[in-house]
Amino acid sequence: MSGPIVYHRGPDFPDLLTGVVEDAKGLFPTDDELFLLSSSGTGGMEAAVVNTLSPGDRVVVAQAGSFGARWNDICAAYDIDVIAVDEEWGQAVDPDEIASALSRDPDIKAVFTTQSETSTGVLHDIEAIGQVVLRHDALLIVDGISSVCAHRLDTRGTGVDIAITGSQKGLGLPPGLAAITFSERALVASRNATCPKFYLDLEKYREALAEGRGPSTLPVTLISGLRAALDLIREEGMDRVWDRHARQAGAVREAIRSIDLSCFAQNPSNALTAVALPESIDGVELMARLRRSYGAVIGGGLAHLRGRVIRISNL
Ligand SMILES: *Cc1c(COP(=O)(O)O)cnc(C)c1O
Repeated sequence: MSGPIVYHRGPDFPDLLTGVVEDAKGLFPTDDELFLLSSSGTGGMEAAVVNTLSPGDRVVVAQAGSFGARWNDICAAYDIDVIAVDEEWGQAVDPDEIASALSRDPDIKAVFTTQSETSTGVLHDIEAIGQVVLRHDALLIVDGISSVCAHRLDTRGTGVDIAITGSQKGLGLPPGLAAITFSERALVASRNATCPKFYLDLEKYREALAEGRGPSTLPVTLISGLRAALDLIREEGMDRVWDRHARQAGAVREAIRSIDLSCFAQNPSNALTAVALPESIDGVELMARLRRSYGAVIGGGLAHLRGRVIRISNL
């Protein structure tokens, strides 16, 4: 990344881009199309909405935390009608509730959820949700921004139509790059999707990618960084990357229990560990002390969990 900037219209760029796009499919893994967007993860989420839906469409958002709730906000911005399947923070979303929502309303166009809810440390069961959604016509769109590399997010025969990740979580890159997978069914939906879009129009990305380019200037430095990250991952092996996160998260959870604290999450993700604090410990003060005395930076609780939860990254 510190080398000379590659010219994005130059002769060497198409090979770099198409190689990175092909290899990035192994992260999920997916056989679907994959696009790299110059945006943070949220831009990938917005791209999923605007490329598959039209104002007035009805969707299910299954969520139990602040990142899951972001789907509500994006849908609201495009006048998409959200049927909420909410769980309490710390719990996993219930596939049976998604099944009932879909059975009650055959017009639901898409189900949105999160794999690893970074605000609570919960892993939602995408495999079970996929089995439910496969029985209906709706698309399944999954925010894998913090889970990719920590957990498998397989789109092959699992019902997942769109999966999204971002550069600064499991890939260990600086922020600014999002990846989005797009199934054949998503592609069909995109032909009738009338949400306004210009920068995030994936049809433009498709056409440009066929020539090894982006529709506008791509973040070439991040793409070089992703090349290096994918080379490291290939050396280690994707299965070992997932195993390493499982082992490391398991060790953190054991350590937490050994000092009589407990995990906040019902079904903990390997991407991070959210620790529930007893009344006697102020999480904000604990974070400040960890930083001051040990140079250790961890995450705090979001929204109403501020001070009550701390979050340790395993990525
Ligand atoms: C970090 C995160 C986001 C937001 O991604 P940005 O890159 O900040 O836009 C969304 N969802 C989840 C689950 C995240 O962990």
